Amino acid sequence: MRLLLVEDEDRLADILAEGLRHKGYAVDTINDGTKAYTRISLHRNDYDLVILDLMLPGMSGLDICRQMRAEGITIPILVLTARNEEEQKVNLLLAGADDYLVKPFSFEELAARIQAILRRPIESVSTVLRVLDIELDPAEHTVNRDGVPLTLTLKEFGLLEYFLRHPNEVINREDLIVHLWDFNYESFSNVVDVHIKNLRRKLDMGSKPSILETVRGIGYRLRA
Ligand code: CA
Repeated sequence: MRLLLVEDEDRLADILAEGLRHKGYAVDTINDGTKAYTRISLHRNDYDLVILDLMLPGMSGLDICRQMRAEGITIPILVLTARNEEEQKVNLLLAGADDYLVKPFSFEELAARIQAILRRPIESVSTVLRVLDIELDPAEHTVNRDGVPLTLTLKEFGLLEYFLRHPNEVINREDLIVHLWDFNYESFSNVVDVHIKNLRRKLDMGSKPSILETVRGIGYRLRA
């Protein structure tokens, strides 16, 4: 999951980005409203969520929100607002924000809101992803195969979550890079293949053929 954090308080942005990376998200940060809007507009398919401060240099968070929705950009938006801006909350929701959080907030609260927004498109009765005998719980950060718990690294977990949300689809390496790594990622390295290889080894538990297929010259597919 790749997030864009738009926040002009650099220290706060650094702390939040660092914490979110520890939770396994890829995070890009931008501290200017106009630049943020340009980035969103040019890379609308790269992000799974935008976290948006309201008071920004350049374009305001509210205007970014309105403009995104007016252009048909459907990325979920979580707004960060200061206490004295709280009366704007109706405007925010009308402008197309999915949720908002009033500063100061705890990091855990932010993480919980993000998780709630990201799992919204999935069936609301169950937040656990189930494909074949694999069960992944994004909230608890646990994975089982045939009832046996697997120990995955953050990146392996992120990759598996992505595959489980797109079963039987051929997913190319660029898609994985875009959704799981931030813009400091060195795209010439073979890091994706290494993580896939490790994930496959843990996931297959010795059985063949692998559930995670290589589609030659294109990418990978989780066969369900
Ligand atoms: Ca601000």
